[in-house]
Amino acid sequence: MIIVIKPNVSTEQINLFSNELKQQYGVEVNKWIGVQSTVLGLLGDTHRVDIDSIQAQPIVDSIKRVQEPYKKANRKFHPDNTVIDVGGVKIGDGSLPIIAGPCSVESEEQIIEVAKRVKAAGATMLRGGAFKPRTSPYAFQGLRAEGLELLLEAKKETGMPIVTEIMRVSHIDLFEDVDLIQVGARNMQNFELLKELGKLNKPILLKRGLSSTIDETLMSAEYIMSEGNDKVILCERGIRTFEPAYRNTLDISAIPMLKKLTHLPIIVDPSHAAGIPWLIEPLSLAAIGAGADGLIIEVHNCPAKALSDGAQSLTPDQFDTIANKILKAKTALSNI
Ligand code: PEP
Ligand code: MN
Repeated sequence: MIIVIKPNVSTEQINLFSNELKQQYGVEVNKWIGVQSTVLGLLGDTHRVDIDSIQAQPIVDSIKRVQEPYKKANRKFHPDNTVIDVGGVKIGDGSLPIIAGPCSVESEEQIIEVAKRVKAAGATMLRGGAFKPRTSPYAFQGLRAEGLELLLEAKKETGMPIVTEIMRVSHIDLFEDVDLIQVGARNMQNFELLKELGKLNKPILLKRGLSSTIDETLMSAEYIMSEGNDKVILCERGIRTFEPAYRNTLDISAIPMLKKLTHLPIIVDPSHAAGIPWLIEPLSLAAIGAGADGLIIEVHNCPAKALSDGAQSLTPDQFDTIANKILKAKTALSNI
């Protein structure tokens, strides 16, 4: 349920009113203060809330029930875009950051070389998997804690914030110095993990599940936010469809749809959607044309020898060319 407060109502009056609502109905009140108006989002059991008596309050402009099951993630609760600061890099402010790096961290030389190259090409954040969710238990599982150490080395060397995936609750302490914790597609509905990440004061990159709907994705964001962490960045990374010509199908429509439904930033991962290097450029351009707030792209210094996802990884030179085009497209888009 949301209550829109009339313009020019003092903060004291709004606070007094919020406290009354909490006491009278036992609800949580989520406050959003905009330039023109203030929105109070009521959370919890709102069935007892007396709509007519609230509407009759002189400071209330309007009141309505929110049908969607996600509340904190809902744009109705927070009409303007959320901008999230990841180690000094902003996501959601129109700056369109590019996160780049290998699928997996493999060695110190590899991660540092790739980090330097992607930074020189314009990436502002470094990705690299340490704990890898692999389809086969016999495939490379990542360097695990050592991989995190190497990422931190690369961060020290280049100054770039780092993004890496977590798979289990008991690893949370290991991720203390990670700037952006990724929840991969396979763990999007690992609700216990989401709840624990919701207790942190750290940005979370939540990837859409392989066969998850938009509502399910937003409910997973809600799991994190309901525990108090509102720094959630969504990621469209392709969904599984009947089409085998590419690894997954990039759901371009999800970008404007999510923008409409939520205030959270949305980035796009063309690498896992495509599974093929040459598709990454057109998918990246399509994503930013559709309103994505950023991109996450896999780059490896020697894709042929990569221990995971080499088939979709760009070389640093290929990334350089694509990053340039993305920059040009961004400038062109800002003029329309
Ligand atoms: C990854 O980023 O390397 C990864 C495994 O991604 P996803 O969860 O989208 O498959
Ligand atoms: Mn990968």
